[in-house]
Amino acid sequence: MKVKMILPALAESESPFWRPIKYSLFPPLGLATLAAYFGPDDEIELQDQHVEALDINDAPDLVIIQVYITNANRSYKLADHYRNQGAHVALGGLHVTSLPAEAARHADTIFLGPAEESFPRFLKDLKNKAPKKTYNSTNRTLENLPPIRRDLIKRNRYLVPNSISVTRGCPHHCDFCYKDAFFKGGKSFYTQAVDDALSEIDRLPGKHLYFLDDHLLGNTRFASALFDGMKGMGRLFQGAATVESILRGDLIEKAADAGLRSLFVGFETFSPANLAQGNKHQNLEKDYVAAANRLHALGIMINGSFVFGLDEDDEDVFTRTVDWGVKNSITTATYHILTPYPGTRLYDRMEQEGRILTRNWDLYDTRNVVFKTANLTAEQLKQGYDKAYRDFYSWRNIFKSSLGHDLHRHKLKHLFYTGGWKKFEVFWNLIIKTKNLNHMLPLLETILSKVKNNNPEVRDELQSMHVQTQEDSANNP
Ligand code: SF4
Repeated sequence: MKVKMILPALAESESPFWRPIKYSLFPPLGLATLAAYFGPDDEIELQDQHVEALDINDAPDLVIIQVYITNANRSYKLADHYRNQGAHVALGGLHVTSLPAEAARHADTIFLGPAEESFPRFLKDLKNKAPKKTYNSTNRTLENLPPIRRDLIKRNRYLVPNSISVTRGCPHHCDFCYKDAFFKGGKSFYTQAVDDALSEIDRLPGKHLYFLDDHLLGNTRFASALFDGMKGMGRLFQGAATVESILRGDLIEKAADAGLRSLFVGFETFSPANLAQGNKHQNLEKDYVAAANRLHALGIMINGSFVFGLDEDDEDVFTRTVDWGVKNSITTATYHILTPYPGTRLYDRMEQEGRILTRNWDLYDTRNVVFKTANLTAEQLKQGYDKAYRDFYSWRNIFKSSLGHDLHRHKLKHLFYTGGWKKFEVFWNLIIKTKNLNHMLPLLETILSKVKNNNPEVRDELQSMHVQTQEDSANNP
């Protein structure tokens, strides 16, 4: 069977502000994971439109398309094209799970939720010429997964070809997050067996890894065993976790010992009322500054995530958030305009309140205002968001933020990482054009190499934090 697997480009790719490097980071790991279920006689092509031109003058028997909200319209056009040619078209992903009726109009088969278990069932049915219209994910497990078909990934087109995911979902339930919608009807947080995760890591060449897990530290026992197993492997890695998990016990130290060098952290907002309204209780009463200091002391760079447009936000929120990031030497910041994705509790609430302004999914890219705001006008929100990016990434603030670290080496790392990421677009575009992106990996690895903090004051602070969190854990088992 001839199979075509496609990740269509997001609508943002047509924007004049499109940054090709941002979308040339990770290969489509989900599709490569599903590709592992095909047989040796199947001929598979995997195309990612973010890094290559799509060839649609082919004639596959089966087409699998991964649908996100801002590539949904493009996905449906591709699906219609291939269905007209007689291919069997299957759609899956976050947007399909959120709006199955919409997706089903363009598909022969749709997948709801994670597809590791339903996909092999579908292939069996297809072979028996009886594929169903809808496949729900029932048994959720990451046991006995076949090795990911990384051979289908064009490694030279990505800055971070070694992306990996060893868990699914997250233990929390934020109202604006897709997670509960995607995992509805079953387990919403589960992990691989530690040995399987370590074997997958072992199969990856080079040093650098990027864990795409929503919350790498979400299961303490799993993460602790994983980091114990990774210690001594000589890996450098990046991942994502919550403020609460950074402050809890000594997990973050174990992660640093295993090679964690940069962390995506969902700070989102400083307002307790916003946190409570968004059901982000895990951030309530957590000391953001202590979390940032703990990461700095361990030599872990921080990518802080912040959301603008929550109901309690006022005109000053943009300046406050940028200033906090600069003052606390956050390495990179990702700002989002609040976006009510269909399927989330936030969307349902806004719909009930009559606040959804458009259902043009192309605009749901966290750069546009698609709902009726509360304290801010839509213009204030959009202008404040744009200004926050401009201000945080001004050279003045990049220098100021870099100089906030104790060690010269740390200051330089910060400067190179932030400056390199945001200020050399022409250079990145040239590297992408010449298909040499993976040759930049040694540079990234150098920037991510360990900074040892020998400052006795910082060591003492870390030690006292460790003792404090151990006491907290004992009091709140
Ligand atoms: S912590 Fe992050 S991944 Fe988990 S539910 Fe909240 S936003 Fe989603």
